[in-house]
Amino acid sequence: MSDDFTSQEGSCSCYSNTYTINHTPVARFICHCTICQDYTGKAYNDVTVLLKSDVSELNINKTHFRRWKLPPNISRGLCKYCHKPSIEMAVAGNLLLIPTDNYPDIAALPEPTMHLFYNRRVEDIEDELPKYEGFVQSQTMVAKALAQGLYKRVTKR
Ligand SMILES: [Zn+2]
Repeated sequence: MSDDFTSQEGSCSCYSNTYTINHTPVARFICHCTICQDYTGKAYNDVTVLLKSDVSELNINKTHFRRWKLPPNISRGLCKYCHKPSIEMAVAGNLLLIPTDNYPDIAALPEPTMHLFYNRRVEDIEDELPKYEGFVQSQTMVAKALAQGLYKRVTKR
């Protein structure tokens, strides 16, 4: 089940919620949508996507889950104490989204591959990554990145 990724204990900023990440994320991207801004309290959400089975020892009783209007299928968890992101769940909990801030060793993660909802950005980003705008384009590129990441997982031995 595990690759060459060294397990990390992720947490919200006050460590009231913790979990163990055991696998390289399927995808990592930077989302500038206003909901991510609201959720993180930052200009954007630099976030990883993992399979449910990649994360163990979930201790998230102190997480309050909430759904914003769009996208409707993501349940976003904020810590009840520090009010910072804890963990997000999508596709009925089968995919977990964890902001990179919640990893103790961000350097061990794959680099982000793109910017989403870049039209909503607070500030311009000077990098070489592709920048996608709007709901349709952003959702399409997320689906594509997830498909590619999952394909890599099932074909890798
Ligand atoms: Zn907290």
